[in-house]
Amino acid sequence: MINTRQDAVHKLRSFIKNGLNTYSSQRNFDLGPQNRTNVSNLSPFIRKRILHEEEVLNECLKVKKYEHIEKFIQEVFWRTYWKGWLEGRSEVWEKYKMSLNELVEQHKFGIRKKNYDDAVNARTGIDCFDFWVNELIEFGYLHNHSRMWFASIWIHTLNLPWQLGANFFLKHLLDGDPASNTLSWRWVAGLHTQGKSYLANEDNINKFTQNRFKNKKNLSLKPKIFDYDFYEYKPRGFETFDKKLENNTILINLNNISYNKKTFDIYLNNNICLIENMVKNDNSEVVEAFNKKALEDHISILREKNAKLKIFKDVSDFINYLNKNNCDQIFTFYPSIGRQKDFLDCIAKVNNLILTFIYDDFDQMCWPYASSGFFKFKKKIPFFLNKVNNN
Ligand SMILES: Cc1cc2nc3c(=O)[nH]c(=O)nc-3n(C[C@H](O)[C@H](O)[C@H](O)COP(=O)(O)OP(=O)(O)OC[C@H]3O[C@@H](n4cnc5c(N)ncnc54)[C@H](O)[C@@H]3O)c2cc1C
Repeated sequence: MINTRQDAVHKLRSFIKNGLNTYSSQRNFDLGPQNRTNVSNLSPFIRKRILHEEEVLNECLKVKKYEHIEKFIQEVFWRTYWKGWLEGRSEVWEKYKMSLNELVEQHKFGIRKKNYDDAVNARTGIDCFDFWVNELIEFGYLHNHSRMWFASIWIHTLNLPWQLGANFFLKHLLDGDPASNTLSWRWVAGLHTQGKSYLANEDNINKFTQNRFKNKKNLSLKPKIFDYDFYEYKPRGFETFDKKLENNTILINLNNISYNKKTFDIYLNNNICLIENMVKNDNSEVVEAFNKKALEDHISILREKNAKLKIFKDVSDFINYLNKNNCDQIFTFYPSIGRQKDFLDCIAKVNNLILTFIYDDFDQMCWPYASSGFFKFKKKIPFFLNKVNNN
């Protein structure tokens, strides 16, 4: 049985061979879960850095010039952009979590409960939407265009709060990513760019799904208007440390299951710890199974390399070990804003630990340019690629 890393590399190679050339003209078609060669399907792996963005970019640029595959390269940078944008506006994540908690409470008893239950159980009567709900639950994946249509129908037709939709996606997507997900939902709702929301229309769905659905009910013809909330960009620093990274305690987190040289060099010179069941998320079984397998495969590679690895069944087990070894500082690769970071910050706070992040060079290079729109950010892509190529 191939491991997650082999699977990722195989998918990348096969996409470069069969899909990269025609990506720009074909990428918007959602031809169904059994026919996905027009897009890369790499997001679950890139999301966890099983494939690093740099690796994807370099492999593509080995066979094609940037000018010929601009669209694909730009899409890879969308994730980077969203992450950098959120890093400079952490209140967006905090506010999302707060309103989500309030909405979950309201929805237990609220008047929109039936609409919500119908939506998440694929009973809306809107054929395409109900199909996508089932597809998402079964495969943990939806095509980008369908995510846009889905979010639009959820918000503008079914009149449901965007935060509950974003949460439903995070629960079921293998690539569930706090930045790409939260900010894309906000974009569809019209909260990202003032005066611009995304409204799905039947003709567009019919064209790009090749008439696979009969949209029985009318989709909304007018977007719902929300109060636009502006968030000022606050440039984030990247804390450094003078200590040599040797014989320290490094905690593996799910957002950096990386196979690059830098990660392994660090791992092999330190004590690596892993807490099983680290985050008690409300993940679907499909997502949990993928996460479990990704970690197991990573661990077996670390074992093959004779890494000093300790596995703990839960947080208190890990804390006991730290206490026994008089260790009050732990290092981890920066997990980015989201639930994984919230959890690590919380462990550190409750147990008086110094939590030190190791930052990724690519993120440090790109994020400072994500202060405003993607249009401005994408102008820097040739500069980023030049640096990536020289590394
Ligand atoms: C409402 C909504 C929610 C989304 N939620 C997530 C999410 O939780 N996690 C996630 O990874 N993506 C999310 N996306 C972005 C996008 O839909 C997926 O990254 C893409 O569909 C993944 O499929 P692929 O790997 O075949 O992409 P491809 O089209 O092959 O693109 C290659 C890579 O570029 C990146 N990419 C492509 N499009 C986007 C995009 N619009 N935003 C960010 N990165 C992109 C991904 O890393 C992707 O693997 C969301 C989009 C919308 C509209």
